[in-house]
Amino acid sequence: MLVRDILSTKKIGKIISVATNDKVSAAAEMLSEMRIGAVIVRDAGSEIDGILSERDIVRELGRSGSGCLTKSVSELMTSNVKSCSPTETTQKVMQMMSDGRFRHMPVMDDGKLIGVISIGDVVAARIKEVQFENDSMADLIAGNI
Ligand code: AMP
Repeated sequence: MLVRDILSTKKIGKIISVATNDKVSAAAEMLSEMRIGAVIVRDAGSEIDGILSERDIVRELGRSGSGCLTKSVSELMTSNVKSCSPTETTQKVMQMMSDGRFRHMPVMDDGKLIGVISIGDVVAARIKEVQFENDSMADLIAGNI
């Protein structure tokens, strides 16, 4: 299964984003409202400037207290964002997320941001894939095909 197959089944089709100058509190509000774990950070005219996840906010809350909510998103975001292409396999992106220890990944196609996938999406896709392989194998052993 490929990343583009995951994107085609996602309920939230649009890309949820905030601007670099937005307050962290506004990003937290968005995460809560949309029930997601990370937002893409981008200013007008830019594809991607960073990513801000719930972990970035919680880490800073623990470190400096609730005052961090008035900081701008650019102060807490990760700028060196790892992305994948729609033709990448689920196995490959799972490995990239596991190696990099992050759970969200923007999908870029020809320099354009076309979606975001989470580790939950990838694991669900892999379970389906493995189930299909198991069923095919069982059918083969039983002589059904
Ligand atoms: P997450 O596990 O996605 O909540 O994020 C854990 C940490 O990795 C946070 O500091 C995020 O800003 C960062 N992060 C999340 N996604 C990515 C990504 N695709 N590339 C680089 N860093 C990321």
